[in-house]
Amino acid sequence: MKTGIIYHPKYLEHEQSPTHPERRERLAYTLDQLSEEGIFDLENIVLIEPEMAEVDDVLMVHEERYVRFLERESKTGGMIDFDTSIPVGVFEIALLAAGGAIRAADAVIDGEVRNAFAMIRPPGHHAKPYTGAGFCYFNNVAVMVKHLQKKGIERIAILDWDAHHGDGTQEIFYEDDSVLFISTHQIPLYPGTGYPDEAGKGRGEGYTINIPVPPGTSDEEYLYIFDSVIEPVLREFEPDFIAISAGQDNHFTDPITGLALTARGYGMLMSKARALADELCRGRIVAVLEGGYSVEQALPYTNLAIICGLAGIDLSNIREPENYLGELRWRKRSYAMQKVRDNVMDVKKIHSKYWECFRIFNY
Ligand SMILES: [Zn+2]
Repeated sequence: MKTGIIYHPKYLEHEQSPTHPERRERLAYTLDQLSEEGIFDLENIVLIEPEMAEVDDVLMVHEERYVRFLERESKTGGMIDFDTSIPVGVFEIALLAAGGAIRAADAVIDGEVRNAFAMIRPPGHHAKPYTGAGFCYFNNVAVMVKHLQKKGIERIAILDWDAHHGDGTQEIFYEDDSVLFISTHQIPLYPGTGYPDEAGKGRGEGYTINIPVPPGTSDEEYLYIFDSVIEPVLREFEPDFIAISAGQDNHFTDPITGLALTARGYGMLMSKARALADELCRGRIVAVLEGGYSVEQALPYTNLAIICGLAGIDLSNIREPENYLGELRWRKRSYAMQKVRDNVMDVKKIHSKYWECFRIFNY
């Protein structure tokens, strides 16, 4: 079976400024690296060019007045927040990013590929119904989920492992029991939300699971979280489809976070998620690119790791940026595991009310 990579050259045309962390080189360098590694020559890799989402697609998630505001401001240039300007033409490229997520989902459910990586930008997980934020304009993963539900794929799990809390996605699905939203993220860090007691509301109570991690968290702790929280709850939820908000800013070279995940660690997480999708939902899994700002050092390797994890390619091919290994020793923190264990315990206590899998533990 094949793995799709969804990409459009126009993704390189979006830029807030040449020095902004979310700049065009994020994907330009990845493309070079993937070509150099021969990824596009592999028989089980299919490169797919998406089209723009329809305005109606983003209206399933966003309020009309925000969509019209962005469309209007995008003609002349404008501003959403301190981190997020509105460059001329961003409306169309943001629609193309949302369209990339939709195309990835369609390729998977129509059987064109087994799973897919939407290698898109601008990212989406901070975008809320009424506004963009934190480099994001439309919430790509949420638009994809709504599109899937319209096509009859009902129960969807979103795993957001970006270093920042996926506050926009959380808000969109906070009262929804058809979407299980699980987020791991560094606290303290932008946007300042994502504590374990944010657990959903109304019908959605129990369907938002936040697992904060401290600066210095590395592969070992992420794998522990996957095994002790993510895997059991996904099994119990029994999703029809798994979406990954794949933020690559947990890498130990990322300049705007303090985490210490390695590229190979990303590959291991992706492999585990893919294996679970194979078991639980006929392999239906799409990873949607979110953050990741170690533009030259790590992003090409972490993106490669995501693809290898999805396509079942041997992870020993994944290298770390060797000149920066000293940074890993500096970033990794020995206390991270204890803090993560404490946080996991909090999550299990809060969610034992909703999930059988968390009830068997002694507190
Ligand atoms: Zn991020």
